[in-house]
Amino acid sequence: MLATWFKIPLWQRVIAALVLGVVAGLFWGPDAEQIKWIGDFFIKSIKMLVVPLIFFSLVAGVAALGDLRKLGSVGGRAMILFVITGQIAAWLGLALGTFFQPGKGVDTSAIQKGETPVPNETTAVDMILSIVPDSPVQVMADVRVLPLIVFALLIGIGILMAKEDGKPLAKIFDSGAIVMQKVTMIVMELTPFGVFALMAWVAGTLGPDALLSLAKLVGLNYLGCLLIIGVMYSAMIKFIAKLPVIDFFRGIIDAIAVSYSTASSNATLPVTLRCVERNLGVSNSVASFVVSLGATINMNGTAMYLGLATLFGAQIFGVDLSFGDYVLISITSTLGAVGAAGIPGAGLIMMALVFGSVGVPLETIAFVAGVDRIMDMMRTTTNVSGDAAVAVTVASMTGEIDRAEMISADDV
Ligand code: ASP
Repeated sequence: MLATWFKIPLWQRVIAALVLGVVAGLFWGPDAEQIKWIGDFFIKSIKMLVVPLIFFSLVAGVAALGDLRKLGSVGGRAMILFVITGQIAAWLGLALGTFFQPGKGVDTSAIQKGETPVPNETTAVDMILSIVPDSPVQVMADVRVLPLIVFALLIGIGILMAKEDGKPLAKIFDSGAIVMQKVTMIVMELTPFGVFALMAWVAGTLGPDALLSLAKLVGLNYLGCLLIIGVMYSAMIKFIAKLPVIDFFRGIIDAIAVSYSTASSNATLPVTLRCVERNLGVSNSVASFVVSLGATINMNGTAMYLGLATLFGAQIFGVDLSFGDYVLISITSTLGAVGAAGIPGAGLIMMALVFGSVGVPLETIAFVAGVDRIMDMMRTTTNVSGDAAVAVTVASMTGEIDRAEMISADDV
């Protein structure tokens, strides 16, 4: 019985749980609230992973550069592309959310709200000061992601500066990152139960209107991701890398399939690397550097989704947002995507960071968590395609690509 359960791929169990949860909720009605705690337990378990995951994976990612000089031409270009595309993606999410209003008209009075984060009147100076941790331990205890990222990056740079002496510590972070991924896999086994409970709760307490708005959110998530892949990445390949777009996508088809089914950039990493090197002719040094760094920090699908989901939360709970809030959301979404680990559900956890910056109730997380996995699959495909697109573009800018190999790789 147990063996049969584990034989079914996780994503299939999750989708079955989603459908069954909706049906159970519609029959059960408001009493479905009784099992919401199972969903909360699931979300809490993912949250528990945030600090150690970001800390280990970011330090390990920077330390993997090997030496500080690598941060030069290749690193600089890759980072610029990561940041610009991340910002465009976040604004795309905001535009889709504003235009289509997926959360409008949902009656959330049945949801018991906990304390809503109050956005404090922060000035630009306050914001800059707040990303430097007063105490790294405090920052970890409070799960404050931005100062944590700054601290992790500094430790990574310190490891590189220490050269030979830094290597033992780099190894510890490497192994910590791997161990945390395994712990994540354990927590992910809770997904079908969490999804079932959350969907039953949403369907039972809020009814078909809420389901319709969630369906809209899922649709917009797919639309946003397809626009990023079909327009932004295609334009980057055609106009900056000056390479045939069709050949690019044909070359990464394996990575697309694996990322969609695993919902994990990290799990897809070896496949992405193989596609970029073997099928697209990118040199080994550029491929391994850009693709592995990208798997941790380049997440345009996630950035777009965080922008969209924040507007969704604001709409269902009637929070008014100013243009200044939009700017703040675009920045925190991009940073949240940088901080998200390349594992299933990471984008969901990062919502707390973005919501907190503009005062959107955290209950939104429970509300959307039931449908997160199907959105996550598409976000991850977008994230992984972005890693490959940036690797190809940087390689073509620095003359590290074998164009003949890319174009002749039709039958891979
Ligand atoms: N699962 C995504 C990834 O691995 C991150 C996310 O949840 O958005 O790329």
